[in-house]
Amino acid sequence: MANDLTLPGAGEASGDGNPATALARLPAIDKLLARPALADLVQQWGQALVKHAAQDELAAQRGLLKAGQPFPASTALDAAVIARVQALRTPNLKPVINLSGTVIHTNLGRSLLADEAIEAVAQAMRSYAALEYDLAGGERGDRDTIVEGLLCELTGAEAATVVNNNAAAVVLGLAALAARKQVLISRGELIEIGGSFRMPDIMTTAGCKLVEVGTTNRTHAKDFEAALGPKSGLIVKAHWSNYAITGFTASVDDATLAAIAHRHGVPYMVDLGAGALIDLSRLGLPREPMPQESLAAGADVVTFSGDKLLGGPQAGILVGAKAAIARIKKHPLKRALRLSKLTLAALEATLRIYVSAHRVPERLPSLRLLTRSAAEVRAACERLLPALASFAGAPFTARVAPCASQIGSGSLPVERLASSAIVLAPVNAKEAGRALDALSRRLRSLPVPVIGRVHDGALWLDLRCLIDEAQLARQLEQAPC
Ligand SMILES: *Cc1c(COP(=O)(O)O)cnc(C)c1O
Repeated sequence: MANDLTLPGAGEASGDGNPATALARLPAIDKLLARPALADLVQQWGQALVKHAAQDELAAQRGLLKAGQPFPASTALDAAVIARVQALRTPNLKPVINLSGTVIHTNLGRSLLADEAIEAVAQAMRSYAALEYDLAGGERGDRDTIVEGLLCELTGAEAATVVNNNAAAVVLGLAALAARKQVLISRGELIEIGGSFRMPDIMTTAGCKLVEVGTTNRTHAKDFEAALGPKSGLIVKAHWSNYAITGFTASVDDATLAAIAHRHGVPYMVDLGAGALIDLSRLGLPREPMPQESLAAGADVVTFSGDKLLGGPQAGILVGAKAAIARIKKHPLKRALRLSKLTLAALEATLRIYVSAHRVPERLPSLRLLTRSAAEVRAACERLLPALASFAGAPFTARVAPCASQIGSGSLPVERLASSAIVLAPVNAKEAGRALDALSRRLRSLPVPVIGRVHDGALWLDLRCLIDEAQLARQLEQAPC
């Protein structure tokens, strides 16, 4: 890149020390943009973007000069504008490296998609697709049919429909099945999920009247029997997801609740949240309830997320009996909450991996990460320990230690996966808090930010979810001290 060193007095304090004189010597915007280094940028990224960056930089320089700072060298000014152009071009949705120890991390975008799903989305973006079009008849079709058959095959449901996320699935299910009616739910299941999903508020939003049944720790079948009346419209069970009730407890199982509901002529709906499509205990993971089990026990509708344990895109899935799903599909909210063709493409490809039942944990990144052995994670920690120790520098000790990964997103809150972490502990206990903040911030400032977890007076980097070891090593090596 050509440098333009024609500005007089560059790099020195303004000649007479008068800020007003210095201000007048700052180049006009058009002059600045015409300089070779910036003209190249204009060619590449367009006039508007570079002008925006240059104006911002000139404004910043005016502030600095008024504060008595020295006049900038023209190369420094160019470099500052180039840095601003780069910052303006950086996407807001940045890739990050998740070393937090939580695999299905809602704030970091939950599940990574399978290659097949990524391909399907790319294809759907490039081309027209038979999204709502019946190719056999040459007429308008229903977009649900793209995944409905697959969902029925996988869960044993008679029918299925899909919306934007599981919160939407629950609202839609409630509104379609029990608007202006009483909805019975155990007091122990009045859940709040992160991001303000609170069951009582969701019921109100859906136009339902919440009826709390039983007590926080114990709810019995007879409590439901006693609470049912002429205004009852639905019984709901919500998976605890992000907490556990232990000790003196009792809850009513799916089969009993379904039987009670049906005896009183109301449907029974289960909000599973994570909803694993396969038995995770077969993969050595803690068991998570499956939608097929609730359906087999008599549930009319089961809702679950597409991007939790299923390992697909953000979506809310409703599977169940033909009559109940038909009412749900007809509700006006269904149209408002419907899925885009991109999500449908990703969801279909993900479900096809389950239907094929072939090498499922290898093809689905979420399951691949969840089933990584502690020994494998430990070996990665040993390999990266020197690079992280040198990045953290003398104020920290670095070691590899066993840790426990979380599954995340409300799955099995008390279960942990044996894992391994690089632990960076401040040497100076007095300054520990500030040192940890600074180190965390440096890791988050890397080109691909690294997210760890401060715990027990140290920064823990659980490598279970590290996908590209070489990329992390390269970043650490190239980082300024
Ligand atoms: C996660 C969860 C939800 C919300 O699902 P989203 O996909 O985040 O919209 C609702 N209910 C339960 C039980 C959950 O675990």
